[in-house]
Amino acid sequence: MFGYDLLYDKLEMFKTSVEQDHLIFLQFSPIMEDMKTTLPDYSTSQPKRNIAVRVTATAETMIRKRHPWIFDHSITHQSHAGEAGDLAVIFDANRKFLALGLWDPDSIIRIRILQFVKPAEIDKDWFAGKIQVAYEQRKSLQAQNTDGYRLMFGENDGLPGLVIDRYATVFVIKIYSTAWVRYLKWIEECLQEMFNYASLVIRLSRNIAQKVELEYGITDGKLLDGLPVEERVLFRENGLTFEADPIQGHKTGFYLDQRENRARVEQLAYGKSVLNVFSYNGGFSLYAARGKAKAVTSVDLNPLALESAQRNFTYNLDVPAIKVCRHETLVGDAFEYLQMAARNQGKFDLVILDPPMFAQNQSQIERAIATYQKLTRLGLGVLNPGGVLVQASCSSRVSATAFYEAIGVTVQRMGRKLYEIERSGHPLDHPVNFPEGEYLKCLFARID
Ligand code: SAH
Repeated sequence: MFGYDLLYDKLEMFKTSVEQDHLIFLQFSPIMEDMKTTLPDYSTSQPKRNIAVRVTATAETMIRKRHPWIFDHSITHQSHAGEAGDLAVIFDANRKFLALGLWDPDSIIRIRILQFVKPAEIDKDWFAGKIQVAYEQRKSLQAQNTDGYRLMFGENDGLPGLVIDRYATVFVIKIYSTAWVRYLKWIEECLQEMFNYASLVIRLSRNIAQKVELEYGITDGKLLDGLPVEERVLFRENGLTFEADPIQGHKTGFYLDQRENRARVEQLAYGKSVLNVFSYNGGFSLYAARGKAKAVTSVDLNPLALESAQRNFTYNLDVPAIKVCRHETLVGDAFEYLQMAARNQGKFDLVILDPPMFAQNQSQIERAIATYQKLTRLGLGVLNPGGVLVQASCSSRVSATAFYEAIGVTVQRMGRKLYEIERSGHPLDHPVNFPEGEYLKCLFARID
């Protein structure tokens, strides 16, 4: 589920492990008014000179396929050095316009393309148009009693390197390139005009955080506009109330990308004893409880995430099925827990395995697959015959085919039989429009 973050970390060759990122404990702390940042208004400053760029034939082919990235090594000519956030205009061999994008001298993704085929004025209205299109595609979520979703999914929604998540009236922008800083004021204004948000928070990907703070005085988790953010922002997902910590929580505070998989778990949970491993703040657990699971156990290494899971249960006690469901939280290592439970004959009817990302680069793919297989093996060790296995992967490097095959082979080796219920990919608010954008896959299967 951290594929998007991972992608950037990986490409920027950032050294800290993403797994570690997901082990960082949540620290709840409200943003104070005096921490608020006032963004410089670049829209009124002198326009910068665009950089004219030529690229290799391979890169040109990729642009024609509308791939949103131009790598540093693909640039064969540039008119002048340029600064982060300048617009780069890419021309083909016949000096015809190919695309234009944001220049980033600090990244190996040197240009993130905003506009293909025909030139456009990149101004506030242009950004408003992109955000409006993305919003239109997510409007149906309202009918599902959902006001927590990813409004803007970077390249996949046409704004490469920019994510906007919504938690009810709190909006969170996350940027993955310093090139975006110059445009934040416009984005802020667009969001204010379109949504009249209560608060707007900025999150910075780790590889740019230091630079953005030094050069622009913007720190990760700062309030850009509006009211100070309460330490726990409440929002609705399919009618359930959850809390998010947009300031210091994982991603922008919640794993919004698992909404549809959680709803599937709800449909499958009736009467079952459910184990949710790598539970974070109990997303899957709540849905299982509403689906009338007998009992739910949430396991995670992070005690603060489990405290949050418990609070998430309390927010929903008006739902009778949740009120009567026995929910237990266990702080600990997933692998150790599964081994221990198997030894103690601990068995469940539905086991959810949604671990952090395992493969950070090409060389780790095999090890990642082996880890998924180990998890399948351990998961089956605690799954009753005829029980349901829900196993997810957010490692973009591990293909869906390899992932499903790894599970299938493991089940077979254990002498058990798999009946596939569903394979799922990306939800509505995390669309994919280029190969590297794809990361999420999840198998639902009955195992006899
Ligand atoms: N399923 C969750 C998201 C999981 S994120 C949801 O729907 O929201 C991955 C979680 O795995 C994080 O909460 C992290 O704390 C936890 N984690 C990472 N390594 C772990 C380990 N070895 N044992 C148990 N939990 C672990």
